[in-house]
Amino acid sequence: MRYVSTRGQARALDFEGVLLAGLATDGGLYVPARWPLLSRRAIKGLRGRPYAELAATVLQPYLGKHLSADAFHAILAETYAGFDHPAVAPLVQLGPNDWVMELFHGPTLAFKDMAMQVLGRLLDQALARRGRRATILGATSGDTGAAAVDAFRGREAIDVFMLHPEGRISPVQRRQMTTVADANIHNIAIQGTFDDCQALVKTLFQEPDLRRDLSLAAVNSINWARVMLQIAYYVHAAVALGAPDRTVSFSVPTGNFGDIYAGYAAARMGLPIQALIAATNRNDILARFFQNGEYARGEVMPTISPSMDIQVASNFERYVYDRVGRAPDRVRELMAAFGAAGSFVLPSNQETLFTGFQVGEDETRAEIARTRAETGWLADPHTAVGLAAARARRGDPAVPMVTLSTAHPAKFAEAVTQACGVRPELPARYMGLMDRPERCVTLPNDAAVLRDHLLSQSRLGRARKAA
Ligand SMILES: *Cc1c(COP(=O)(O)O)cnc(C)c1O
Repeated sequence: MRYVSTRGQARALDFEGVLLAGLATDGGLYVPARWPLLSRRAIKGLRGRPYAELAATVLQPYLGKHLSADAFHAILAETYAGFDHPAVAPLVQLGPNDWVMELFHGPTLAFKDMAMQVLGRLLDQALARRGRRATILGATSGDTGAAAVDAFRGREAIDVFMLHPEGRISPVQRRQMTTVADANIHNIAIQGTFDDCQALVKTLFQEPDLRRDLSLAAVNSINWARVMLQIAYYVHAAVALGAPDRTVSFSVPTGNFGDIYAGYAAARMGLPIQALIAATNRNDILARFFQNGEYARGEVMPTISPSMDIQVASNFERYVYDRVGRAPDRVRELMAAFGAAGSFVLPSNQETLFTGFQVGEDETRAEIARTRAETGWLADPHTAVGLAAARARRGDPAVPMVTLSTAHPAKFAEAVTQACGVRPELPARYMGLMDRPERCVTLPNDAAVLRDHLLSQSRLGRARKAA
């Protein structure tokens, strides 16, 4: 499989290339040159298969010659054996034809583990094979950072620098990163928003010297391998609910558009998806886009679902690329317009798969309380946004509706307790998390300061100085 940049000015790469590169050198994102197709027969053949096996089968075409089918399956099986549910991504029924898919059974209690735990192994192997080191630079609205820190801690060939917006992530999210003692993990609180953090990362990735000297790698959802790994659970759920003979709809709590874009990819591969609902909190750039076709930046507002407090959704560019007929010149124009004026317009009437819906803070709390009262199931605030959107945008009741449950409620215990009076407990393995010492530096929202920090603190930066 070849991967091309959405902006058309970086060279095409194979899977291992995009795994190591993250963002393309022209500022674009890598997408597969074509969508591999899943036939009806192939989908039927997935029925009843364990998660790792299904994922290996569905995703193998994206890897090309990078790994053999057996080697890939072995990595997936080893990864998901470490999750705390044998179904890996179990479906829980909440209504006559309404389900949640629990994606929080990995080590850091959010769906990011589904891809990141595999990515850690894939990157480590690829670097070892090339005898190379890498410096991971990432921005997190909370859960990506925790997932990356867990997936990469202690790895010999990799340093991790993880930026988060100071004071804007939950205490559990922060402590999952800052209490990790391994020397290769570096936490940085930025005095700004998540979008500021993401912009800093983008800026440094566009400095060719720094990128080369530190061998910068990205594990944000802009890394294709993460999106790819997320495709598997859409297929897993749809097959369990009757695909290819029935269509299925998904409601996806959305921030950076990575998770829902994986659903889009599954649909492009031939999975019968009726609707994809982009469920947002009041940071609703995507919900507005799917309502009126205008992609217009707003102010980032803090909410009780902080992992979705995003107004510039990096992965959206991948979707735009398809929407403009895979014309990179058009993508460059639109992204330039967005950079300059903060908005662009695409006619939304061509869109039939996606719908958007925004959910306010009070509605989110009410949804947590209602779901608890009616079903006994405890939703975290992100999942509750998805559930409220699923209710509002429910189409044909005969089509199963699956809401992606993106985090364990204990990750956002304060908000959940406030909403329904029940305090979710952290799983036993997190005992003591709130008491351990933290390691983190605070830096201003300034690319030059961050560059100096990376050069002086990373192993590759220090080696370069010594040379
Ligand atoms: C990251 C995250 C989201 C948003 O996912 P995107 O891929 O950024 O759209 C939603 N919920 C939780 C709990 C998350 O961690």
